Amino acid sequence: MKHKLAYRLAVTYGLIFILAVAVIDTALIIVYRDNQLKKNESFYFDLSSMLSTMVKNNIRITNYINTSEENGDRNAGRVLLLDASGKVLLDSGGELSGVSMTNLEYRKALENGKPAAGYYTYGDKGMAMFSYPVSIEGKTSAVVMISVFIQDIYDDINRFAIQVIATSFAVAFAVVIVSVLMGKRLSEPIVRLTAAAGQIYKGKMDTIVEVARNDEIGRLAGAFNRMSSELLKVETGRKRFLSDVSHELKTPLASIKALVEPIISGAANEEESREYLQDIDHEIDRLSGLVGSLLTSARLEEVELKRQELILAEEVDYTVRVLAPLAAQKQIVLENACDRTIVIQADRSMFREVLINLLDNSIKYGIEGGFTRVECTRKAFKVIDNGCGIPEEDLPGIFDSFYRADKSRTGASGSGIGLFIVKRIIELHGFGISAVSQPGKGSEFTVTFYPDV
Ligand code: ADP
Repeated sequence: MKHKLAYRLAVTYGLIFILAVAVIDTALIIVYRDNQLKKNESFYFDLSSMLSTMVKNNIRITNYINTSEENGDRNAGRVLLLDASGKVLLDSGGELSGVSMTNLEYRKALENGKPAAGYYTYGDKGMAMFSYPVSIEGKTSAVVMISVFIQDIYDDINRFAIQVIATSFAVAFAVVIVSVLMGKRLSEPIVRLTAAAGQIYKGKMDTIVEVARNDEIGRLAGAFNRMSSELLKVETGRKRFLSDVSHELKTPLASIKALVEPIISGAANEEESREYLQDIDHEIDRLSGLVGSLLTSARLEEVELKRQELILAEEVDYTVRVLAPLAAQKQIVLENACDRTIVIQADRSMFREVLINLLDNSIKYGIEGGFTRVECTRKAFKVIDNGCGIPEEDLPGIFDSFYRADKSRTGASGSGIGLFIVKRIIELHGFGISAVSQPGKGSEFTVTFYPDV
């Protein structure tokens, strides 16, 4: 069942509603029944009280009693007057005069000196029996008894009960329908999210769920979409990275093979062979550089940062020392213009990797006799050079893996992984990196620290 949650909700709401309604209905019916019977009781108690007063005052009640008989409306009520021994003194029906009878209501009125009422079934009809004492000076000497059919009251109560129960059933049905619909509305995006998660599981990473809602489910869908687009990015990146790596490895291997073949076959003379071997050596250097960079970037996937306080200027000093021989080859001046008081929280070896990559690039892509200057403030540090610069169209891609700007322009060869590694390290630290450049004038790489240090 697709909307199990909806049906479960509907059943729960339905059951709660029916339970509540059953309690309310029962209370309503009982209250209505009591009211109707009380109303009837008080009418007949008034009547029997009046008859009792008449008896006390020696007023003959025969006339009244006979009236109902004359009308032939025996269902309307039968009036009896019984003495203290239970003998019937008067009977509106006539048949019981002189007969001795005691029933519960009679005894109650006689013993307690208070009116009493009892309910019976006569044939298949409801009947009520009322007794009222005739007390003279605190002593009950006779009892007025009225029996009356009250089936019409019972019928009325039953009609009321049926109406109440039918209405409740109709409302309960509506509640169940509404809760199924509401439940479906609630579970529908969850059903879609589940289906979308299944699609992602099957590898369809570009799955997006449209949920135009401003509640928790809407936010869940938003988070899901962000997650899936992130997954898509990672997946695309992974595929591209893999194909780039294969390509990068294939090219030098193919050229090594092409250089080795004439040496093996003897087609190349001694001088050519030496030249080819030098090229092979160069290719092997490139390959091992590439593999080294790949290892570094793979290590970054699982590395844990060991943050410590670093005096930025000292780290720049170290990098300048390491790269000085390389810079000297091109007579490039490496200048450390950092404020010595600036301290950052970073992983030393990783941060050195960043500095080495940035400064190495500034030398690699620098001009003979040029300069590279490192500046830093509390918010950021900059590596500035006056090298060949980066064309505007290449700038957005330089931090991607294997991205190299036009080689003929720079004259330098690299793997295109350096800045990719730099960006990854910077992101791991929660910092930011950006670059501005003017071709022919130089470049400026800025690392921004978050939060402010
Ligand atoms: P590579 O190994 O090719 O240097 P990087 O990822 O370090 O790879 O750099 C990517 C590209 O960005 C380089 O190929 C180069 O074109 C450009 N680049 C990086 N730093 C500089 C710089 N200081 N000056 C000019 N171009 C740069």
